Amino acid sequence: MIRLCVLGSGSSGNCVYISNGDSAILLDAGFSGKEILARMDMAGLDPATIRAVVVTHEHIDHSRSAGIMSRKLKVPVYMNKKTHARVSGAIGILHELEIFDVGDGFEVAGLVAESFAIPHDASDPCAFLFRSNGTRMAVITDSGSISTVMEDKVKDVDYLVVEANHNREMLMAGPYPWELKQRVSSRMGHLSNEQCAGFLKNAISPKLQGVTFAHLSETNNNPHLVRQMAEDELSGHNVKFTIAAQNRPEKVVVIE
Ligand SMILES: [Zn+2]
Ligand SMILES: [Zn+2]
Repeated sequence: MIRLCVLGSGSSGNCVYISNGDSAILLDAGFSGKEILARMDMAGLDPATIRAVVVTHEHIDHSRSAGIMSRKLKVPVYMNKKTHARVSGAIGILHELEIFDVGDGFEVAGLVAESFAIPHDASDPCAFLFRSNGTRMAVITDSGSISTVMEDKVKDVDYLVVEANHNREMLMAGPYPWELKQRVSSRMGHLSNEQCAGFLKNAISPKLQGVTFAHLSETNNNPHLVRQMAEDELSGHNVKFTIAAQNRPEKVVVIE
């Protein structure tokens, strides 16, 4: 069993609470420490259950309060060496540091975490597959394109959190400067709704219970477009979905 709560997702901050029912991790800590605790309170989650903070990459919307949460909760921060080198000045002294290599699996808070590389413009960015007994769940955001490793990792998952960052037409016609449009739409940027739809096919199986769409751009996307894409892709399958927001936590999902 895995209990999951996306506490918020988007370019201003990302944080996901993942628990095996007893102990939990925070995957990324991209809001202020105060905000994370306030959102956990809103979602009915107990900070005392948190055993670690796991950081996917150095971008501030993922790493902002990793140090604060580590010190406040007296828990280790798991990240890879290159990510640590990038953030160590900004996040301050950690209660404890656990270094992992991207591609490796490790046990944390009663969960098995399998890290894998994703194409994104950070020093060594990764995404995760989590396992708890027979339950498998993947969290993949901040990926400019789809690799075969990503496709493999989401086969037979019970639940998927995946990025639907932008609508390509909205991005290209929108207010971003040209360089930023290039960055977001590049192979090392973020997944568009169309890319997300294609990727979703790899995860669809009789096992798949639900999907949370995450990291939506507030400028270059619209939840209605994501909803439409999700309904098209998931029609005929018994799969629930939600769309994570930037400014509020989602409901807790129990995956069995
Ligand atoms: Zn991000
Ligand atoms: Zn990023």
